[in-house]
Amino acid sequence: MLHVNAQRLLADMAALAEIGATPEGGVSRPALSPADLAGRDWFRQQVEAAGLTFRQDGAGNVSAILPAADPTAWTLLCGSHLDSVPDGGRFDGALGTLAALEALRTIREARLTLPVHLEAIAFTDEEGELVGLLGSQAVAGDLTPEILAHPRGGRDKLLAGLDRAGLSETSLLGARRDPDSLLAFVEMHIEQGTRLLDAGLDLGVVTAIVGIRSFWLTFTGQAAHAGTTPLARRKDALWGAAEFIGRARDLVAEQFDPGVVNCGILHAAPGAFNIVPGRVRLALEFRHGSEATLDTMQSALLALAENVAASFRLALNIEEASRAIAAPLGERVIAALEAAADHLDLGHTRLLSFAGHDTQVMSRIVPAAMAFVPSVGGLSHNPAEFTPDDDVIHAADVLLHTLLILAEAAR
Ligand SMILES: [Zn+2]
Repeated sequence: MLHVNAQRLLADMAALAEIGATPEGGVSRPALSPADLAGRDWFRQQVEAAGLTFRQDGAGNVSAILPAADPTAWTLLCGSHLDSVPDGGRFDGALGTLAALEALRTIREARLTLPVHLEAIAFTDEEGELVGLLGSQAVAGDLTPEILAHPRGGRDKLLAGLDRAGLSETSLLGARRDPDSLLAFVEMHIEQGTRLLDAGLDLGVVTAIVGIRSFWLTFTGQAAHAGTTPLARRKDALWGAAEFIGRARDLVAEQFDPGVVNCGILHAAPGAFNIVPGRVRLALEFRHGSEATLDTMQSALLALAENVAASFRLALNIEEASRAIAAPLGERVIAALEAAADHLDLGHTRLLSFAGHDTQVMSRIVPAAMAFVPSVGGLSHNPAEFTPDDDVIHAADVLLHTLLILAEAAR
């Protein structure tokens, strides 16, 4: 059976971890920072040393390409990202990028002739230092001048980064790829949770990236003297909000598993030891992999808020704050990942991704899926992030066989 070169892959992981290394043992390679650019330079050297073709597009996405004999063949894309959050870990993004590079090197050395171009891509600014999912949005044609006008990291930082990398807003908008030229996209990643370790499994095949909905709930009662107002007469907005928070957790745990709910901001007014809080503004967010379930969750949570408000004699105002649509992933790519895991005799399960990834953007234009390998303690975006060597090697082997399965099916 074909396997990747484990020692070479682990040596690459160690070498990349030196670039932007932090004293805590992690890496700091925010998108288009000097450290990120050094990481891309290093990647380019590895690509060229391996006899693969290097490509950089207008969004700064860097790729290794193993071309098919027929120039009009489809491209089978795999990869992840080389940027990190500030003071991040060594595995988030790096694992998927280097597993993809190693899979291509292995296929080239085995002299396999495939009917598709293979491309291992590292997307620019996945983590959101500048825009977030910038490189994949550019490839998918989702990037607009409006998005670039209001980047989450600020205009100055975006323009400085583009300048450092020799890119421009025009080049970014020109990085769109023709979806008809692409066969599929596959990403390997660390789990960023503990479900795999808890279950003693090697691989999690992601079936959907969750949708996220958020609302501001404002409970309004009456501010009053905290000493002289009898308890039974109070219209305490914070009592209502507190009751809602606890019952929302129970509701989601009991009826919407594996969905999650969070109340992350709570402002009580007027805000004093000796005044009954008359008004509370609460930030509610919930996530699930299915839009239909999100609709039901939304109705149930907002009805709960209405009922709680009524029982505490409070008025309730509901404002939608934001909505990210759930991304169901490609069944054919999911099946190929599972077949590869079976072939390698690895224990696997299906699960949802509760964090965003380039895969969700790519899934809008091409069949796409991703798989997780265990991450000790579920740590991520943290210098202590750690995935054991065996799991790093599994990720590359699973990707290798997934690419072979998808490529063979395209004959
Ligand atoms: Zn990542």
